[in-house]
Amino acid sequence: MNHDFDVISAARNWRTDASASATPHDIVTGVYASDVLTLEGLKTRLSKPTFKSLQATLERGATLDPTIADTVALAMKTWAMEKGATHYTHWFHPLTGSTAEKHDSFVSPDGDGAAIAAFSGKELIQAEPDASSFPSGGLRATFEARGYTAWDASSPAFIMRHANGATLCIPTAFASWTGEALDHKTPLLRSVEALNKAVTPALKLFGASEGTRVSSTLGAEQEYFLIAEEYFYRRPDLVMTGRTLFGAQPPRGQELEDHYFGAIPDRVLSFMTDAETQLYALGIPVKTRHNEVAPGQFEIAPIFEDSNIAADHQQLTMQVLRNTARKYGLVALLHEKPFAGVNGSGKHCNWSMATNKGENLLEPGDTPHENLQFLFFTSAVIKAVDDHQDLLRISVASASNDHRLGANEAPPAILSIFLGSELTEIFDRLESGQGGRGSEAGLLGLGTNVLPPLPRHAGDRNRTSPFAFTGNKFEFRAAGSSQSISFPITVLNTIVADAVSELAAELEAKLGAGEDLNAAVADIVKATYTKHKRIVFNGDGYSEEWHQEAEHGRGLLNLRTTLDAVEHLTDGKNGALFAKFGVLSDRELAARQEIMYDIYFKTVNIEGETTEYMARTMMLPAAVKYLGELHAAGGSRAVKALAGELEAATDALYDATQALSEHNAALGGDEVHEKAHHMRDHVLPAMQQVRVAADRLEKLVAEAHWPLPTYRQMLFVK
Ligand code: ADP
Ligand code: MG
Repeated sequence: MNHDFDVISAARNWRTDASASATPHDIVTGVYASDVLTLEGLKTRLSKPTFKSLQATLERGATLDPTIADTVALAMKTWAMEKGATHYTHWFHPLTGSTAEKHDSFVSPDGDGAAIAAFSGKELIQAEPDASSFPSGGLRATFEARGYTAWDASSPAFIMRHANGATLCIPTAFASWTGEALDHKTPLLRSVEALNKAVTPALKLFGASEGTRVSSTLGAEQEYFLIAEEYFYRRPDLVMTGRTLFGAQPPRGQELEDHYFGAIPDRVLSFMTDAETQLYALGIPVKTRHNEVAPGQFEIAPIFEDSNIAADHQQLTMQVLRNTARKYGLVALLHEKPFAGVNGSGKHCNWSMATNKGENLLEPGDTPHENLQFLFFTSAVIKAVDDHQDLLRISVASASNDHRLGANEAPPAILSIFLGSELTEIFDRLESGQGGRGSEAGLLGLGTNVLPPLPRHAGDRNRTSPFAFTGNKFEFRAAGSSQSISFPITVLNTIVADAVSELAAELEAKLGAGEDLNAAVADIVKATYTKHKRIVFNGDGYSEEWHQEAEHGRGLLNLRTTLDAVEHLTDGKNGALFAKFGVLSDRELAARQEIMYDIYFKTVNIEGETTEYMARTMMLPAAVKYLGELHAAGGSRAVKALAGELEAATDALYDATQALSEHNAALGGDEVHEKAHHMRDHVLPAMQQVRVAADRLEKLVAEAHWPLPTYRQMLFVK
């Protein structure tokens, strides 16, 4: 049954791709961004006045001037066809969390039996894909299926390649005919604008920056597992749900800690190099690769970029990883928890704010001016996270991420901030009126003019914190490995915009009353820290003591499961916040909540049905067959008893899924909220019972009879 040797020999003879091996010189001179139509690239293809007009439109963030649209479209088409593209698509981010594309050919019949290549300005600016099959959360009834995609000219067009051709992809926003956002990009763009509007004037109060615009910067580290393709296809659970619903623990897990940063296996390294070369061509600045903690787990990380572009690039990174793995006989698992009992995968979002002059507002810097600014903006982030713990938690909530956040794994579902000991000491000393850093005696004592020289890149680290200051940025670690980062960044941008605008108003009032800048900022930082320091925690976020202290001592939220969290999305405070900054209307927010419930329900429902199917059609028959063989030898009471348990648990799971249908019939409808709760409270526990019995059977039934590749095989055969 278990063809380990076939898999191993396949691993030795993976297909190599010569085009994937670019030298550093190739990458710098030829490959990098070669499949991206940058603004610079467009400049060389447009007349001066047309380019100027385009640039002006981009700066104003308005839709493209229709009088130049045809010219821009022609330049794009010419470029794309030179690159080998036969089709174009408006590429967008529907609320499924993945990306969508509908390809149209450049080729149009000209009526005389020949064909011409056509692509007009109209087609560039806007398209109308049939939107009825994308989730809208009630924003659009299916009979009025119209949805529009509109060019987001701030993210460059690019070429997606496949074995037999290429497609021009135009990043777009997706909205209903009433103008309501049906995607993840629109609110993200709105939140970037909200952040700019709040932070730029605040920055001006410090008088040091040359910047005229502020945006958020984002670098997302992607964790994933790789397993041999053959194992993947022999596991219906992986194929249907992305995670293993069964599997006994192997004798060896990650306890030897020998995988992390270990030598990367040859086949994996070849895969990574190939994927990276493609990402370079797409202008995605991937930088780091390494083995992660669990066996079979890896990570890829880019250099940070503007957050809207980073979000587009993150989706492309996941797509390229998935597609490329197949060329090497591997499957990339992006699920948050593909294997029980070993580490899950996250997507750490490194976030900061920067001006259009490249100044990082969370860089501690060397001079008092920068320090003032730094302390002001850092305390705004502390305030934002404390005030809106619920929103950050919701932004990373999903059925799959529940296996990390709510379970006994990193990071916990409780939001807290790791500042590190040095920075915490600085805040503590400011609060107590001591000032200074402690070591320089000369600076001590007087509160305001004693702002300390701050440490660049505070040294210590804490892997258990969900939100950590790491030198010159914050790292939001609770995001799940498979999710779109757009909503978490949208939330971060918005809550920080809120905190900054509140603190800036206070600062302005103080300055207006004639207070000195240093004194005013020190007061505000001190008061903000005192009020919000309950959110600061530098200890072990996994420990039971922390859970007790956080919830009972500090009154922090502990929203354990997705459903506990999502319930709060439409709370009055949140509706008011998103409306105030024009990021999401009440209707758009309610739609997102409904979609989150719906996706949760569907995810667990598919898992429940797959569990039942596998137990009945794979595990039970294996146990029965094995029992038959043992019969002559007197049978095995243990196997028999376990097979009985497995059958009973499977029947109970069936009842749990049935109960839902009956319950729905009684309700006379299908309340998505009720369905989701039924899944969490009845179906998930019933699945767990089935798994317990099946995993014990796996350890008793002869290996030759066991119908599934085991954890030992999937995690260790590379
Ligand atoms: P660390 O070792 O703390 O994780 P790295 O320098 O390796 O730090 O960076 C991790 C990620 O953080 C990378 O994707 C990096 O580009 C990103 N990053 C660094 N500086 C910033 C910043 N100012 N804003 C957003 N992301 C950043
Ligand atoms: Mg990191």
